[in-house]
Amino acid sequence: MSKSLQAIRGMNDILPEQTPLWRYFENTVARLLDNYGYKQIRMPIVEFTELFKRSIGEVTDIVEKEMYTFEDRNGDSLTLRPEGTAACVRAVLEHGLTGAGQPQKLWYIGPMFRHERPQKGRYRQFHQIGLEVFNIEGPDIDAELIVLTWRLWGLLGIRDAVKLELNSLGTSESRGRYKVALVEYLSAHLDKLDEDSQRRLKTNPLRVLDTKNADTQAVLVDAPKMADYLDDESRTHFEGLKARLDAAGIPFVINTKLVRGLDYYSKTVFEWVTDKLGAQGTVCAGGRYDGLVEQMGGKPTTGVGFAMGIERLILLLETLEQVPEEISRQVDVYLCAFGEAAELAALALSEQVRDQLPNLRLQVNAGAGSFKSQFKKADKSGALYALILGDDELAQQVIGFKPLRGQGEQQNIAFDALAAHLATCVVQG
Ligand code: ATP
Ligand code: MG
Repeated sequence: MSKSLQAIRGMNDILPEQTPLWRYFENTVARLLDNYGYKQIRMPIVEFTELFKRSIGEVTDIVEKEMYTFEDRNGDSLTLRPEGTAACVRAVLEHGLTGAGQPQKLWYIGPMFRHERPQKGRYRQFHQIGLEVFNIEGPDIDAELIVLTWRLWGLLGIRDAVKLELNSLGTSESRGRYKVALVEYLSAHLDKLDEDSQRRLKTNPLRVLDTKNADTQAVLVDAPKMADYLDDESRTHFEGLKARLDAAGIPFVINTKLVRGLDYYSKTVFEWVTDKLGAQGTVCAGGRYDGLVEQMGGKPTTGVGFAMGIERLILLLETLEQVPEEISRQVDVYLCAFGEAAELAALALSEQVRDQLPNLRLQVNAGAGSFKSQFKKADKSGALYALILGDDELAQQVIGFKPLRGQGEQQNIAFDALAAHLATCVVQG
């Protein structure tokens, strides 16, 4: 196929055989978030480029080298969203959702776009579910965000495979003092830092802590620690969070190098990581961003949130073989009809059954076909039962009912008893 007719590298089709697992995952998360009182928000996929520059920060991997930015026909610079927080804050401000200090607990789901090197667990179009909470400043809400993800890992059967890493970045004042100390230390070891880190030392020194370069990591072993520069307010907040995680029985490790890739974080930052996916081990990441809303032109409004990468979590479910068997069966009953008269009766009958059993997954054969071919389709559909309607059955106003997976005998059921019979043998989702 010519290249222009193929999907863009790093942007994947999610094929019919994969969508049941995606829907299972998405439905599980959506139900959980409903239960915790979060409300869904849906933002556009494209925003003014300026929004991301202002919120994410000019000196970040995303803004420096990962954004899909283009000029539209009006000459405006637009960008496919690389993450959700910026647009969520914009929407909240634009619609006054946090006016007068009103708390908001929001979530979103959708595709994000980053021009990265595609590999397992890293794509150019990928999907996130994100949560953002505004105007709740205590550690109780930081804890709730973590507790609900812990519950999600439990529901999905992946708790044993993920580990929580925590850090506190302090307030911007304490971070400022820490930056001075870090720059002083790193400047004394400038020749041992990799090129990127040398550059970042000038533009965004905290990001040096994030380096993957082994030589720079060696230098960082003796670097000043953020924990020693935390102000009292941040320290108390962090202790409050840790106490709550202990109370909820959630294990965590402190990772003093955890700074997160975006500029806007303060106080709490956290990541859920796994060692089951190779290099792309972070499945969920977030933190507190108390200064962001003001920085984007709003009134002082605290914020805290996280985003999870759906592709990585799906990969983890597959790797750990935690894909529930029943999700791939999408048909309960397959109706085969032979000849024009039987087809007409089958259509009327199937619509009556749907009226009575609205959740029944009933597939009616389309495209006619011999007994053998329709039966083959019924079996391939994964249905538990086949219904068979030919001229003989029609004459008697009955339909053949045949278990396909070895539960019981074939029998004839009167038309008007069919819905009641199906109700007894198919579990209604
Ligand atoms: P990484 O360090 O892996 O690049 P990040 O810090 O850039 O991650 P965030 O911006 O925090 O990622 O996004 C939250 C989550 O979204 C990540 O933890 C990950 O699960 C997922 N994610 C981020 N970028 C990608 C990508 N290119 N492809 C697939 N998933 C991604
Ligand atoms: Mg990244």
